[in-house]
Amino acid sequence: MNDVRTEARDVDVVIVGAGFAGLGLGIRLSRADYGSYVILERGDDVGGTWRDNHYPGVACDVPSHLYCYSFRPNPHWSQFFAPGGEIQQYLRESVHAEGIGPHIRLGVEMTSARWDETQRRWLVSTTGGGYRARALVLAAGRLSEPCHPEVPGLDTFPGPLFHTSRWDHDAALDGRAVGVVGTGASAAQVVPQLARRSARLVVFQRSPPYVVPRENRQYSARERRRFAANPKVLRELRDRLFTEAEHAVAQRHGVRPDIDQVRDRALGHLARQVPDPGLRRRLRPNYEIGCKRILLSDDYYPALTRSNVVLEQAPLVAVDGHTVTASNGARYPLDVLVLATGFLSTRPPFARRVRGRGNTLLADHWRHGMVSYASTTVHGFPNMFVLDGPNASLGHNSAIHMIETQIGYVLGALDHLRHEGVGALEVSADAERAYTHWIDAMSRETVWLGCHSWYRDSKTGRLTLLWPDSATAFRKQNGTFDPEPYLRHH
Ligand code: NAP
Repeated sequence: MNDVRTEARDVDVVIVGAGFAGLGLGIRLSRADYGSYVILERGDDVGGTWRDNHYPGVACDVPSHLYCYSFRPNPHWSQFFAPGGEIQQYLRESVHAEGIGPHIRLGVEMTSARWDETQRRWLVSTTGGGYRARALVLAAGRLSEPCHPEVPGLDTFPGPLFHTSRWDHDAALDGRAVGVVGTGASAAQVVPQLARRSARLVVFQRSPPYVVPRENRQYSARERRRFAANPKVLRELRDRLFTEAEHAVAQRHGVRPDIDQVRDRALGHLARQVPDPGLRRRLRPNYEIGCKRILLSDDYYPALTRSNVVLEQAPLVAVDGHTVTASNGARYPLDVLVLATGFLSTRPPFARRVRGRGNTLLADHWRHGMVSYASTTVHGFPNMFVLDGPNASLGHNSAIHMIETQIGYVLGALDHLRHEGVGALEVSADAERAYTHWIDAMSRETVWLGCHSWYRDSKTGRLTLLWPDSATAFRKQNGTFDPEPYLRHH
């Protein structure tokens, strides 16, 4: 079943993943009639992150009008920061409106992909049969594989135990004793919800986040009508939001007074919202602001001041049935345990399934952490493109801008393959090495190497997820395909 059958279906492009990146590329391929393609999606619906994350309180912390395709603006966003369900609906509607549904294979997982040098094709095995493709686009996301902490006895916990991205809506929470492990962006959204519903909530904090005011607001019906009637207004709004967000990159490069201003803003928010000096001390981060994602919340700190909520400063280290123990020896009897422990971002499992030229496993090529050229192509892996992979994430602006930049690059490369009589494009080892050295050098100028986070490779500590500059610079540098650094196989 999983083998590439002799009758593998021929397509120009196989895309893996039907989240923002995979769907965005599919839409652009369809609109420009780039040839045949399929989007493989192991889940039962499109949406990626927004399909998987439906925990109470899930929302985007990037403004809605910036967190959608520039080529599919949406005048109907209900709020400045859209709830997760609304974004998921936007993606479903995009599929429908663009007519790309027939290209999407739901419930079909890529089990392996191998570059065949002779045919100059990717042979892609899936749970739904085989494909032979000219190009392979990995758009599987970087926040798609939940990270489960290795805590002895976790499997003995008898009550509901689940990750934020696999929320169990059947689990009874009202009036129960609930534990949340982790204090990242997911926890900051779910903790206020759980604090209201549970009898007792214990939050296990390993390192406190910086939190700034969120200041969300609803768009009025009048505003939405105006957006719908006037696309120019919407475009100008998007441009303004983008430009405002770009200013924050200076903070991440430690530029003064920018970094001091944002730190003051976060610590002022903490001081205003947490009157108890003891609790405030425990919530004060001991690393530079921006090193981990800065959280936006108006209700996280107030939730922690509630009498039914305990902020446990020590990480969870053991579970024995209902009893959960922190590293300082504190023990808590709990009914429900929620893991807000993030994702396997830096070592993507798909890399263990992809073999390039000479049968090289992508995970082996990435054994010292992910490397690439232009954050999109990889030496030894001809005609393969990774969206939202190595050094393509941002901490200060919209991921959709980055994805669209990469889509532009992929379309340029596909054009080149089609029109220049080239069988395969493979970035040279030198180009990949030079790009990687540049990324490493740029990283040293930033705040991101000053703490542990999902932006850095879990083994080597290199900054392998984040792009170390502005989104504008990313587009300037990586938005247009240039064949020069590529080995061309005819
Ligand atoms: P995350 O930022 O990686 O946070 C995971 C949390 O779990 C961290 O506080 C981490 O502590 C903690 N942790 C991990 N293992 C632990 C252990 N064994 N014991 C105690 N604590 C442990 O994951 P996330 O909150 O799911 O967010 C991931 C990313 O998704 C965000 O950065 C953001 O880009 C995106 N996101 C966005 C939104 C939004 O738009 N509002 C919402 C959710 C997620 P350490 O910090 O010490 O490692």
